[in-house]
Amino acid sequence: MRLRQLSLQCSLFVLASCGALSVAMADTVIDNANGYTLNAKGDIVQFASLAFDDKGRIIAVGSAQEVAGKAPKARHVDMRGRTVLPGLIDAHGHVFGLGEMLSQLDLSATTSLAQALKAIGDYASANKNQAWLRGRGWNQENWKLGRFPTAKELDGVAADRPVWLERVDGHAGWANSRALALAGVTDKTPDPVGGKIVRDANGVATGVLVDAAQDLMKKVLPQPTEQDGRVMLDKALQKMASVGLTSAHDAGIGVAQDKLYRDYADHGKLTARIYAMIGGTGPDFDQLAKNGPLDTYGGDMYALRAVKLYSDGALGSRGAALLAPYSDDPHSHGLLFNTNEQIDTMIAKAMKKGYQVNVHAIGDAGNRQILDTFAKEIPATRGEALRHRIEHAQIVTLDDIPRFKAIGIIPSMQPTHATSDKNMAEQRVGAERIKGAYAWRSFLAQGSRIACGSDFPVEAPNPFFGIHAAVTRQDAGGQPIAGWYPEQEMSLKEAFRCFTLDAAWAGHQEKNQGSLETGKYADFIVIDRDLFKMSPYDIYKTGVLETWVAGRQVYKKK
Ligand SMILES: [Zn+2]
Repeated sequence: MRLRQLSLQCSLFVLASCGALSVAMADTVIDNANGYTLNAKGDIVQFASLAFDDKGRIIAVGSAQEVAGKAPKARHVDMRGRTVLPGLIDAHGHVFGLGEMLSQLDLSATTSLAQALKAIGDYASANKNQAWLRGRGWNQENWKLGRFPTAKELDGVAADRPVWLERVDGHAGWANSRALALAGVTDKTPDPVGGKIVRDANGVATGVLVDAAQDLMKKVLPQPTEQDGRVMLDKALQKMASVGLTSAHDAGIGVAQDKLYRDYADHGKLTARIYAMIGGTGPDFDQLAKNGPLDTYGGDMYALRAVKLYSDGALGSRGAALLAPYSDDPHSHGLLFNTNEQIDTMIAKAMKKGYQVNVHAIGDAGNRQILDTFAKEIPATRGEALRHRIEHAQIVTLDDIPRFKAIGIIPSMQPTHATSDKNMAEQRVGAERIKGAYAWRSFLAQGSRIACGSDFPVEAPNPFFGIHAAVTRQDAGGQPIAGWYPEQEMSLKEAFRCFTLDAAWAGHQEKNQGSLETGKYADFIVIDRDLFKMSPYDIYKTGVLETWVAGRQVYKKK
């Protein structure tokens, strides 16, 4: 009795003075796991037990016996035979974009205009305190409407406040009359360059603004406040934890987001490790880069040591820059956002400051521009060790694929883009150029490490959708049956590696995460099936039961 009291007091009140005992008491052993991880040799190994200390660092992995010997006084958590994996990493997402999407009305599941209008009306009554009603995800094709919706239709369910609803692809927005008036859009407003105000036969602006015309509205949209940012970050972190992401690379942040990340890290509120890229080399870069790259912050929860730049646009809107004209539009090559000199100046500026440079490049001309610039600037800045990346690397000529390896560039790719884009992509680039499109196998075969991600919220953040697409080259509907260009499939082990160790490597974090090995953090997930013993065609159905970061449970499925 006396002994028990003593140890209780020791654990509760005088931890520091109890020396070795307190350390041992704070250790945790995860038992009875059907665990899988990559090891240092790159093999997949199984484990039943995993022990970590009070800092969340792994002290042993292996059989129950092996682990028990290393942590004799630990508390035990019984996994009851469930499958345990290292936490998954999304190497390219937009965290605040995801949070914004989750904070707005989601119209993506609506199948008719009437259904959408009902949802908007309900949302308006449920959110009376919002000055603007914002939403996204509508698609008039899914409504079988044969035309765009109108401001008048929107006024019928929400006329008291401005309403702005973005189309599913972000290339058009639907406004009510209030919003149009605030934006100053009238029947007489001319179409801006690169944009269109949708009008009826009489020239009346009917409520939809396409491409650059959306800027007329964006100018009057209220800027998100810090409180809005917190709501977005909370929602995004919850979502990420629920799908098994313990880390994400945020592809483009500014001063406001950096401030929130540090604040969340300081207060133990970051439930996923964030590896952030500064968006551009403008004023935000100048301010954030004053003290140089931030390799690690808040117990390795946050890092800011990369810059995100753009070479070109997207394939769907024919904004991706191609070397030869689009197969379905002989008058267009797409567009490079910058001249070679301009992009060279930006890349050199970031590299000289010691930042990893990650450039969005979709078309083969966009990829070539960046490969050429990297080939010049990496040796000039002696920046080989910074692990520079091309984000998307979507359409690459067969001659340029080997240059990724030769120059030392990481292709950062999103498997679900391939299965979402497959029909459109082939129309855009034709049968020949498609051979270098979404070409994971070609990159892996030459020894490139691919960092995998989703580009959420463009695609869903669920990394099992990505692993599924990488392994099967099928969408979640099982199409096409034989896989889309199945010769570019990854093996399950490769896909697993691209969403764990190689994504960690692309963020200079392979010593801390990406696998469950002694010395790394106990970032792991518990899932509802055995990933390595199931049909690959069902991988997208995998559900996450628990998510742990640094030995702390941050999500448990209800
Ligand atoms: Zn992106």
